[in-house]
Amino acid sequence: MTHRHCSFCNAIENEHNPLIAGNRVYICKNCVFSAYKLMFGENASEHQAPKDHLATQLLTPKELNTFLSQYIIGQERARKLLSVAVYNHYKRIFKHLNVDDDTEIAKSNVLLIGPTGSGKTLMAQTIAKVLNVPIAIADATSLTEAGYVGEDVENILTKLLQAADGDIERAQQGIVFIDEIDKISRMSENRSITRDVSGEGVQQALLKIIEGAIVNIPPKGGRKHPNQDFIQIDTSGILFICGGAFDGLGQILERKKGNNIMGFGHDKRSTTDIDESFDNVEPDDLVSYGLIPELIGRLPIIASLNKITQEEMVRILTEPKNALVKQYTKLFAIDNVELTFDEDALSAIAQKALKRKTGARGLRAILEEIMGDIMYELPEYSDHKVVITHDVVDAGAIPVYLKKLSKKSA
Ligand code: ADP
Repeated sequence: MTHRHCSFCNAIENEHNPLIAGNRVYICKNCVFSAYKLMFGENASEHQAPKDHLATQLLTPKELNTFLSQYIIGQERARKLLSVAVYNHYKRIFKHLNVDDDTEIAKSNVLLIGPTGSGKTLMAQTIAKVLNVPIAIADATSLTEAGYVGEDVENILTKLLQAADGDIERAQQGIVFIDEIDKISRMSENRSITRDVSGEGVQQALLKIIEGAIVNIPPKGGRKHPNQDFIQIDTSGILFICGGAFDGLGQILERKKGNNIMGFGHDKRSTTDIDESFDNVEPDDLVSYGLIPELIGRLPIIASLNKITQEEMVRILTEPKNALVKQYTKLFAIDNVELTFDEDALSAIAQKALKRKTGARGLRAILEEIMGDIMYELPEYSDHKVVITHDVVDAGAIPVYLKKLSKKSA
């Protein structure tokens, strides 16, 4: 048996040093690595190669937004703002040396304001996916100041380090999404009784990590392992995205505009008249809401997301990559059943979701309820077509299966 040799160093191909074949030439793994070092410097470690793509090929805001639009329906303004913020953030980390100047570019952490199920978490997850950076998602309501019962703020960074498979450098370029940030404001009624009364302590603790600091974190998290050594994480390159629904913020905005919602007289407006779009939210409004000014100051990009409309619900069902309807169609196709939803059925599902008031989050559960029984029978209908109609969605009717015409008889 003849062995193949590396055309550069003549090494024989083996399991530990495989060859890449070119046009009648071969290069071994060791030579690829030496070439990489030659190109990118002596300090380049084997592990570093793949993640350098972030540093060298920053996607433009337009490219980021195009990627986001494959997954996120609507929310155009928020997508744009987030794309610019993310671009600036990574530009600040990787490209600042290109300009010889001592101006420091401030961190562009982001606050996403929008009702539940409008896509805040999805946006953060999708950005992490396109950038190929680790992401940690935490719920602000579970956080506490050190000393109280609950999760320490530092544990968010432990989660991020775990998402980065323990690679500190990668964690330091990651994204942290903190949901329900509004629930730790002074105004919130959802505060935990185990925490300080104002919620301010948690805000202060968050501020410390968001503004960029060297933080000692327990690598395994929590106080359950008191004897572990601490790891230092520099948070200055971590992008923090906070999200919240900020119920009641509309009233603050209306009051600012001089509209007395609860007042008497002809002009009395009900809370349902309140403009729910928060496009013009200013930092002061968030201070009125009960967030501390220092924290708001560290979240300079404020983007608002709209409540999902019925039309958008239908688009969410059908258009994004991995849309629910696409997933079910595939599941059915595996059993050789051709599945379609008619338009009225999609609208009916959208209406059901609107009634639940959990935004697009409700869609999955609604579909599961409809499809559960149908899928129970599915394997028996191989070679059939089935159409989900309005009656199936609203009245629980049993869908009609039609035998597919075979190619011969068609
Ligand atoms: P929240 O705003 O509460 O963070 P999520 O991002 O967690 O909402 O949304 C819950 C689910 O609803 C997502 O996983 C996604 O399937 C769907 N969803 C919500 N908003 C959108 C949207 N704008 N486009 C596409 N899917 C969405």
